Amino acid sequence: MKIESVDFFYLSMPVVTDAGDGSQDALVVRLRAGGIEAWGECEASPLTSIASFVCPMSHGACRPVGASVLGEDVSTPADIARIAATIQWNSMDLLQAAHTWSGVEIALWDLLGKKRGEPVYKLLGYQRAYPKTPYASQLFGDTAQQTLEFCRAAREAGYRAVKCGWGPFGRGSVKNDADHLVSAREGIGPEGILLIDAGQIWGEDVAAAEARLPILEQVRATWLEEPFNGSAYEAYGALAKRPSSVKLAGGEAAHNIHMARHTIDIGKVGYIQIDCGRIGGIGPAKQVADYAVGKGVTYVNHTFTSHLALCASIQPFAGLPDHRICEYPVKPQPMAWEMCKTHIAPDANGDVRVPEEPGLGMEIDRAAMKKYLVDAEITVGGKILYRTPSLD
Ligand SMILES: [Mg+2]
Repeated sequence: MKIESVDFFYLSMPVVTDAGDGSQDALVVRLRAGGIEAWGECEASPLTSIASFVCPMSHGACRPVGASVLGEDVSTPADIARIAATIQWNSMDLLQAAHTWSGVEIALWDLLGKKRGEPVYKLLGYQRAYPKTPYASQLFGDTAQQTLEFCRAAREAGYRAVKCGWGPFGRGSVKNDADHLVSAREGIGPEGILLIDAGQIWGEDVAAAEARLPILEQVRATWLEEPFNGSAYEAYGALAKRPSSVKLAGGEAAHNIHMARHTIDIGKVGYIQIDCGRIGGIGPAKQVADYAVGKGVTYVNHTFTSHLALCASIQPFAGLPDHRICEYPVKPQPMAWEMCKTHIAPDANGDVRVPEEPGLGMEIDRAAMKKYLVDAEITVGGKILYRTPSLD
């Protein structure tokens, strides 16, 4: 199948705030080939990513992503990997390329699955998809009392695991963080799995993170996520050396497989969290999952946008029964929820599974997307390089 078209749709809430909430806008990819329409989603700043698909070539190592994609033949997973390798070479100095390509790559898996009548996880070599335990992924409250209420609400909604992140955590005193952590534990109850996301707040300040370890242990946090900059592998490694019941989690910042391996090998994380919309798509994410299995590290999806992205994010570890915990955005913005007609809902046991339908098995809601579609145009020297395409 020849890739005939790749269209980018920039969706946004009417107002975007500085909250650590990645569901406020989205970049959705529609790919057409062989009479099939397939969908993917980038996890990135939408306009920047569109630009990296259409921008004029700067030099040989800085070519637009689109030049390596459009017109290419795709009939096997190896073809997807071939295009990925071409982009890596042709766009090596275009740092947004991996994020742009990620959404296209996800759409290519959707395409192959639809063509073959198989779900994506089977194309990845898994025989079956195992249930995952979704954790309610949410932000810390502004106050400890609000954190308690958020966590209690997640528990009452049936979640056995809750993650609190960003917000005020790490920005004030150790005492303030302790108040939030104690409240979070109280909210989810003694049995709940409690996960904490520091959102890179301490840069590479190992001592600042270490000061929180006793209270993290006291509230029985399972992991401390992203205490440091996503590439500060040595800081992760230094903190991981401290004897503690709290393991480190990280890897969402990886926009290539090498960064993910460094997070495991140098950063010594216990949980590697991969965002398919950033690392280059489902293929490299599956390679990280295989690598994690070999290293005794648990693979976890990272996702904070729509259920299209959620579905893509679960595929790489769908067939790993022991890698059970799964990020599940619990309070997405209306745009991120409405853009899909199908959703991955928890079953009676509170578990989630990827669809068994061909490809990603997700149906897009065009009417809903139209409500949030941002009209944009990129013009260079009087020539239109991008204009928001029609959703029809
Ligand atoms: Mg995170």
